[in-house]
Amino acid sequence: MSEAIATTPLWPWLKEPLAAAIQQLATHHAVLLHGAQGIGQFEFAMHLARSWLCEGHPTPQGAGIACGRCPSCHLIDAGSHPDLMVILPEALQAALGWGAASAEVSEKAEKSEAKSKKLSNEIKVESVRAVVQFSQHTASRGRAKVIVLHPAERMNLIAANTLLKTLEEPPGQVRFVLSGATLDELLPTIRSRCQAWQLPVPDTDSAAQWLAEQMDKPSLNDAQVILAAAGGQPLTARDHIQLGLDASAWLSLPKAVQQGQPTPLTQWPLPLVVDALQKLCHDLARVSVGSEPRYFPASALPTPPELNLLTTWSQELRKLSRHAEHPWNQNLKIETLLLQARAILRVRANSKARAA
Ligand SMILES: [Zn+2]
Repeated sequence: MSEAIATTPLWPWLKEPLAAAIQQLATHHAVLLHGAQGIGQFEFAMHLARSWLCEGHPTPQGAGIACGRCPSCHLIDAGSHPDLMVILPEALQAALGWGAASAEVSEKAEKSEAKSKKLSNEIKVESVRAVVQFSQHTASRGRAKVIVLHPAERMNLIAANTLLKTLEEPPGQVRFVLSGATLDELLPTIRSRCQAWQLPVPDTDSAAQWLAEQMDKPSLNDAQVILAAAGGQPLTARDHIQLGLDASAWLSLPKAVQQGQPTPLTQWPLPLVVDALQKLCHDLARVSVGSEPRYFPASALPTPPELNLLTTWSQELRKLSRHAEHPWNQNLKIETLLLQARAILRVRANSKARAA
C-alpha cells in the first residue's frame, strides 16, 4: 500500500511560514490553519505534523522543519506512521495522495476508487470516532500522536460535536492540526479550542516563478496573468493551466464574453465558470468605482455597465455558486450564464455612472 503514497510536497512559499509556525506553535495541542484555498494548506498541515513527529531533533520542543531522514520521517513518507492519523473526506483522498494511508478508511477508499462519483465530500462521524479512539492510546514511538484533519469545515455537525471533548482535553501526547479555508463555517466551540494560524498568501514573484516552471512553455509574463486570475493562489493557478487555460485566453475572456465569441469556459466545470464570471463581475465593479481590478488587467476589461446591474449580477452568481455542485444540465447552464453575461456587458455605462 505504501507505494501509493508520495512524499507530500513542501511548496517553496510554505517554507518560511512553516518554520515560523513550528516555533510559535510549539506548545499548542490544537492548531487551526486557515487562509485562502489553493496555497497548500493540507501540505502545510502535513509538514507541521511531520516536524512534530520527527526524531531527528533532540526534543519535540526543539523541533525545526522535519529532517526527512529519520525513521519517523520515512514512516510518514511511506504512509505508515503509527502515531499519525490523517482524516480527509473520501473525495479528497485520491487528489491529495493520502487516502490509502489512513487505516480507518483505506479499504473503503480502494473499493470506491472505481466509482469516484459517489465519494463523500464530508468528514463523517465514523472518522472522528476513530480519531477519539486513536488518541486514547499512548504513542508507539514516544514523540507525540498527531491528527491531521482537513478540511475542518467538512465535518458535519455530529462529527464536530464528537470531536469537541477530545479537542478540549486531549490525552497527554496528542496534537491536532485542523485546516480549512473558511473559519466562519466551523462551530465556534471548535474554533475556541484551537490556536488559529493564518497561512499567508505567497508573495507574487516567487509564486509566479514557480508557476512558470510548471508550464509546458515557461513564461513569467503568462504565469503572472494566470496567477492573478487565480487570486494569487499558485495551486489553483496550476489547476487552471491543467484545465487548458492560458494567459491569452484569460486576457481575451471579458471581451469574448461580451461579444459572444467562444471561450475556454465552455470546456470548464460549472463551479469554475461561475467563479470566472464572479471575478469578471468583481473587477468591473472595482473599475466602475475607480479602483484597480484584481483578476484581470484593466486593459482587458470592457467599459463597465452600471453598478446596480453589476450588483444584481453579483448576487445571482453568488447564489448560484452555493449550488454549483448541483447536477444541472451543465452545458445548458453554462450557455445561459454566458448569454446573461453578454447581455449585461453590452449595456454600456451611461455617462453619469462613468463620471462617478
Ligand atoms: Zn525526521
